[in-house]
Amino acid sequence: MKTALHGGTELDVRAIRSDFPILARPVRRTPLVYLDNAATTQKPKAVLESIRAYYEEMNSNIHRGVHYLSELATKAYEDARDKVRRFLNAADAREIVFTRGATEAINLVAYAYGRAHVGPGDEILITGMEHHSNIVPWQFLRDEKGAKLQVAPIDDRGELVFEEFERLLTPRTKLVAVAHVSNALGTVNPIKRIVALAHARGVPVLVDGAQAVPHLTVDVRDLDCDFYAFSGHKIYAPTGIGVLYGKLALLDRMPPYQGGGEMILSVTFEKTEYKKTPYKFEAGTPNIEGAIALGAAIEYLNGIGIDHIAAHEHDLLRYATERLSAVPGLRIIGTAREKAGVISFELAGVHPHDVGTILDQEGIAIRTGHHCAQPVMDRFGVAATARASFGLYNTMEEVDALVAALGKVSQVFGKS
Ligand code: PMP
Repeated sequence: MKTALHGGTELDVRAIRSDFPILARPVRRTPLVYLDNAATTQKPKAVLESIRAYYEEMNSNIHRGVHYLSELATKAYEDARDKVRRFLNAADAREIVFTRGATEAINLVAYAYGRAHVGPGDEILITGMEHHSNIVPWQFLRDEKGAKLQVAPIDDRGELVFEEFERLLTPRTKLVAVAHVSNALGTVNPIKRIVALAHARGVPVLVDGAQAVPHLTVDVRDLDCDFYAFSGHKIYAPTGIGVLYGKLALLDRMPPYQGGGEMILSVTFEKTEYKKTPYKFEAGTPNIEGAIALGAAIEYLNGIGIDHIAAHEHDLLRYATERLSAVPGLRIIGTAREKAGVISFELAGVHPHDVGTILDQEGIAIRTGHHCAQPVMDRFGVAATARASFGLYNTMEEVDALVAALGKVSQVFGKS
């Protein structure tokens, strides 16, 4: 099951699959074919083991304790922060804020940065391919401040219309918020170009990296973005942990997002002094185990090499695109020149939910629906799509299984 990679190296997919216990379980009495990685990824033993080890060897609350276990847990939590820093090539571990996920990271910026910098008549610029998580927080801000939400359109391939984006970047724009990779279309956005243009006009940029970190090497210093958000569960770590990267100077000037324990230096009834960045953004007992397990997931990915993973997934995407394009009546939605990880499609005359249900009978897990990106569905004139999304453990044989099962769907609906 080795797959040839660009650059002559090889990814041992069989060995990788054996790292993920769930992949060995049958589903509906057939082998599981898991193609719903954009929704969430499966977890390798190294991640599961890190959670077990945390609870068996060091479970304790962090930062406040003077006792041995608390010191161990605090060190493991802060080590995880540094692993994330290296993963994103951030300059300083203080630029890494642990959150519940990408959604909370974006809400944090909308609240703490947005409220201070966006006023009546100001504009926030997003794109037509955003996930609801990168739309709704800006609508809250817009409504609270009397601001305007501007949306740069996408074309029929699902690519950003760059000239329109440029035109919508006005002297009133206070923030650009854009997906690195679209979860519904797979489009990879030209983030460096977007950031350069926005910065030339003095506008900071938040990047929603939820769908990018599993598939691409992300270097926040090279991108020069101001904020970068992602979720652990999309890169083989648990749910309930995520990251906001922010440039230190920006984070330092932002007020806290939530109040409570962990984020304070001193409290009286009259006045509270906050801790410094990043702790002022981490109120309450955090997801300690999740942060540690995210660190373990990053180490696991580094051991394989993100570039190798990206090349393998690129091969899968190319092969799946070729094979799916040959299925009668199948239309791929999202044909950007640069794509990662995701193929959305519709099958003429068959509701995507029916496609998903029949595939499920074959043990094939895909996602159907609007993928939390209803404006994208509107743009392409569909209510929903079926979406196959790839991870490092997927194989060409699984793509073949998907195509064969789609043949059965067509049979059931009398299309062949
Ligand atoms: N942005 C994108 C592009 C996503 O795909 C997702 C998850 N589907 C999110 C944001 C939100 O991530 P989470 O639900 O983990 O906070």
